[in-house]
Amino acid sequence: MNFKSFHPPRRILMGPGPSDISPEVLASLSRPAIGHLDPLFVGMMDELKALLQYAFQTKNEFTIALSAPGSAGMEACFVNLVEAGDKVIVCRNGVFGDRMIQNVNRIGAEAIIVDSPWGRAVEVDKVEAALKANPEAKFLAFVHAETSTGALSDAEALCALAQQHDCLSIVDAVTSLGGVELKVDDWGIDAIYSGSQKCLSCVPGLSPISFSEKAVNVIKNRKTQIQSWFLDQSLVMSYWSGAGKRSYHHTAPVNSLYGLHESLIQLQNEGLENRWARHQIQHETLAKGLDKLGIKFIVPKEERLPQLNAIYIPEGIDDAKVRSYLLNEYNLEIGGGLGDFAGKAWRIGLMGYTARSENVALCLTTLEDALA
Ligand code: PLP
Repeated sequence: MNFKSFHPPRRILMGPGPSDISPEVLASLSRPAIGHLDPLFVGMMDELKALLQYAFQTKNEFTIALSAPGSAGMEACFVNLVEAGDKVIVCRNGVFGDRMIQNVNRIGAEAIIVDSPWGRAVEVDKVEAALKANPEAKFLAFVHAETSTGALSDAEALCALAQQHDCLSIVDAVTSLGGVELKVDDWGIDAIYSGSQKCLSCVPGLSPISFSEKAVNVIKNRKTQIQSWFLDQSLVMSYWSGAGKRSYHHTAPVNSLYGLHESLIQLQNEGLENRWARHQIQHETLAKGLDKLGIKFIVPKEERLPQLNAIYIPEGIDDAKVRSYLLNEYNLEIGGGLGDFAGKAWRIGLMGYTARSENVALCLTTLEDALA
């Protein structure tokens, strides 16, 4: 065997994630590894908690980064909060709502499914009807930013409904965190998970999560033991409990956490509102350019995600051919369609560090070239 070191080309990542990583975050990853119980590392993790609380806009004590991808964040929320026999209202308007249902089913709980059309926000009135029809439901789960379709749902309204009906809310913010307005405390979100590789522009493989006090109490008062050892947050809580109290749970991904810390420093320096605004501005420029090319959006304007632009592939155009042309000729990655939209849509990501004018301009000119 004579394999050589792997040196990937420098791509511009304008797909559904991962997004581009800034030079500062990349540099932070190559700093020396130190022990994950080293007091300096524990101090860094305390800062990480505070930075995540800022990103989520929460004072929740239980706000951490799970050492695993967004899917594990999703699973952690469900396996910790939901028990067999519980009723969970799950909203499905794309691939990730469907994944939530699979989580509920595997627990042996009952998923009451509220379907909304793919490419549209979750229909709030349908959710209200489901809550009224199922007074014994304990949870309401939905995806804030459906990456498979580019639709943004009204998390504030949905969480308000959950509270009115005595349900805890479980919210997927994998694509929304850092990209659009998200206020965990003001909106009364009980359990939320995200991913490091989207609008935070960090390496993939970490999942920021936050649980309200109510959610933590549900975990503490479960009737049955959580089936998953690794995802049992009652064990993880003490791992993240700060200087002097840290007890071993698993070996933290030390360098990836440096990266997350650095990416959140960048978020803090830019300011959350400024970052939301930057995504919106870049999205509007892209949308104008796509309109000139005659390309249509899937999602109506008022329900669109600025960080994930789902568009119809123009008639007669070969999906795979265009995407490989962009990748091979311009090192530019855009995403294909997922689920119902496979072969019918492209997904252009403008997430975190990727959401910059030069990338929007490059995407528009190279797409025009590819379609000519
Ligand atoms: N939820 C949403 C909305 C996503 O977009 C994704 C990933 O794209 C996930 C969950 C799963 O995250 P991961 O791929 O990091 O496991």
